[in-house]
Amino acid sequence: MKTSELKDLKIAIVGGGYGGAAAAIALRNIGAGNVHVYEQAPALGQVGAGIGLRPITVELFRRWGIFEEIAAVSSPSDYLEILSADGQQVYAQEVWPQLNDFDQPNHTRIIHRGDFIDALLGVLPAEMVHMGHKLTGIKDDGDAATLTFENGNTVTADLVIGADGIRSLIRKELFSDNEPIFAGEHAYRAVISADNAFGLGVEDDNPRFYMGDNGTIAYNLPLRHRNQLSYDITTRSEDGSWAPVITNDYLVSLLDGFDERIVDIARNLDISQVTSRSVFDIDPVDNWHTDSVALLGDSAHAMLHHQGQGANSAIQDAAGLADALLQADSVKEALTQYQAIRKPVTDELQRLSRLGWNPGSVETAFPEQTPAK
Ligand SMILES: Cc1cc2nc3c(=O)[nH]c(=O)nc-3n(C[C@H](O)[C@H](O)[C@H](O)COP(=O)(O)OP(=O)(O)OC[C@H]3O[C@@H](n4cnc5c(N)ncnc54)[C@H](O)[C@@H]3O)c2cc1C
Repeated sequence: MKTSELKDLKIAIVGGGYGGAAAAIALRNIGAGNVHVYEQAPALGQVGAGIGLRPITVELFRRWGIFEEIAAVSSPSDYLEILSADGQQVYAQEVWPQLNDFDQPNHTRIIHRGDFIDALLGVLPAEMVHMGHKLTGIKDDGDAATLTFENGNTVTADLVIGADGIRSLIRKELFSDNEPIFAGEHAYRAVISADNAFGLGVEDDNPRFYMGDNGTIAYNLPLRHRNQLSYDITTRSEDGSWAPVITNDYLVSLLDGFDERIVDIARNLDISQVTSRSVFDIDPVDNWHTDSVALLGDSAHAMLHHQGQGANSAIQDAAGLADALLQADSVKEALTQYQAIRKPVTDELQRLSRLGWNPGSVETAFPEQTPAK
């Protein structure tokens, strides 16, 4: 689309998570002049946990001119390591894919979730981001769509981006009735001071995954720029409640045979500061767009966290959508291109993320690099 058309295009993004914020940045970067983000939460907030931003995602931050803002609140990692539960055996130690594929090395950046969303939304003008806007309805009129919010506001836009997460209302209203699927797993996450980590995670900036025989995985992401460690446990469970109640003793019981430092952390955790969640994903959605509405991020392709690709994919969706708008002659054509480019990639990541890892049979930390058999 021409610069003049993009400048006047009215774009409404529903959801101010990583996907929605990245979409706003990518669209501003191509000259879109009328972009607004509508987020249901009254104020920013993210669970206490770390996240890894892959080299290809970091390259997008450079392209969008926000690398320095991200680098200021993250640490550069060279590789990912997968070990036996006791840490004695290294199953895989692999350099992050694409680290050396760009003009300069792009390390994976380990970042705190809260810092990440603050950094993304922080580069947007305040008047672009509308907190306290919970979407309650959407009407697709073909070449435009109208949004209704719980606070009584309505907005009509030429392009609506549904970045409203795994339980997306926009997906449900326009694209698929299918509910999220419980994975039979829980994720427990906490950020602790490195001083209370018994020496774990202080050696370098690289995440380490410890694989238990009972299906429990304990992993940590060093947040050395904060003198903290993101301490995470994923385990099997039949309890699909939203926020399962847990105790220190229960966590310790999951960690039989694990590195003593991991067990000691579990024993000493302030349990009130641990985020406990059942884990869900969705099946691939057949169609992500109409002529004026498109899904992006978890709303389009929520995936299990085993490959650490959900947020990365949301950000790459944002770039894919912006590229398509630049190249196509109309919004309609751009949305078709966007889906054609991004959906095969995320369909495959959804599939791979469901495979998880089995202790003792970890062939690679990055199965997306291995051609499907
Ligand atoms: C345990 C765990 C670990 C993970 N680790 C990683 C990792 O290492 N790397 C990685 O890349 N990914 C990881 N992920 C996945 C990642 O968190 C998600 O893929 C990512 O948050 C998706 O971003 P999003 O913007 O699409 O959705 P969300 O982050 O869910 O944001 C959606 C936003 O929309 C808002 N919203 C929802 N409904 C409405 C409404 N009706 N009206 C207005 N606003 C609304 C929400 O409040 C929210 O702010 C992990 C996930 C889990 C569970």
